Amino acid sequence: MKLTRRELLKGAGVAAATTFPLLPEVAYAHGGAGEGVEAPPESSRVRQWVMVIDLRACDGCTGLGVPPQCSQACNWSRFVPEGQHWIEVYDSASGQPLSGGSDFLPAPCMQCQNAPCVNVCPVGASFHSPEGVVRIDQERCIGCRLCMAACPYDRRFFNWGEPVQPPDAKAAPYDVVSQIPAIKGTVMKCDFCTDKTSAGGLPACVAACPHHAIYIGDLEEGIATNGAQMVELRELLSADGVQRYKEDLGTEPRVYYIPGHGEHAEVDMDAEGNGFHGNGSQSPGSGEFRKGDLEWPWRAISEYVGSLPGGTSGGPGGMSDG
Ligand code: SF4
Ligand code: SF4
Ligand code: SF4
Repeated sequence: MKLTRRELLKGAGVAAATTFPLLPEVAYAHGGAGEGVEAPPESSRVRQWVMVIDLRACDGCTGLGVPPQCSQACNWSRFVPEGQHWIEVYDSASGQPLSGGSDFLPAPCMQCQNAPCVNVCPVGASFHSPEGVVRIDQERCIGCRLCMAACPYDRRFFNWGEPVQPPDAKAAPYDVVSQIPAIKGTVMKCDFCTDKTSAGGLPACVAACPHHAIYIGDLEEGIATNGAQMVELRELLSADGVQRYKEDLGTEPRVYYIPGHGEHAEVDMDAEGNGFHGNGSQSPGSGEFRKGDLEWPWRAISEYVGSLPGGTSGGPGGMSDG
């Protein structure tokens, strides 16, 4: 795969272009108050992150004829290692239907409050943050993969080889919140992008969905946003047929689904994520589900940077897998 300079910058732009005034007090902390305006006292509120995915608005990006933009944006923004799907869009033909007969099901980590992955980890490398997000400390992870076997949603991924990463990420000091850099022999997964939400931004998948199907919310304050509008969580959670995936297992997921078939999938041409299609070509109206065209550009970026005078590559090859 060859990348143009524009495409390289586009990927970087996903990370930079996901800032929304999600919560007023966070906006102040980032200069939203403006000069001469006194910022309010710091809140001691601990957010309780939750996601609501409105399947009435999700058509798997088939109408636009592009790969699922939530998955693509997650890959680019979070330096997801090759082959891993931190948010995977299942179609009803893949044997992962939600009751209610929805056609497409974007599945991030469910951030289970009674998490089998946390319960089985023998070294405490998987744990809950105070905001209810399940984290993995890759420096403590011993690679036993018990958590992967325990996850009923197949939402954990293993770095079998040395993960290919952009050179800057590879050289960065390890950070448990962003999971950068990816480490060989350890497990990774979606973490609700709390590096972004804690700074008043949106998860990359939320910002990139052209139909605003994904909401990130705070149970504590009772609000949620899909990047286009702010709504009360109870409004979303009282929609017809709202359910959590495999909730009968008692895992207490923090991801809720509103069943549907993409009947509300309209493209907002002003959306932040619009125009972000990964490296694939667009075939609007084709109706094709193009999950197979998703990209993990790190190998191409590494090779490109390595080819520059004085450039260094992001690490040797190595596949990662779920
Ligand atoms: S980007 Fe939005 S419409 Fe496309 S697959 Fe993801 S959730 Fe569905
Ligand atoms: S979905 Fe899987 S990885 Fe995520 S919290 Fe639940 S059990 Fe753990
Ligand atoms: S919340 Fe962040 S890490 Fe999770 S699927 Fe969305 S973009 Fe990826």
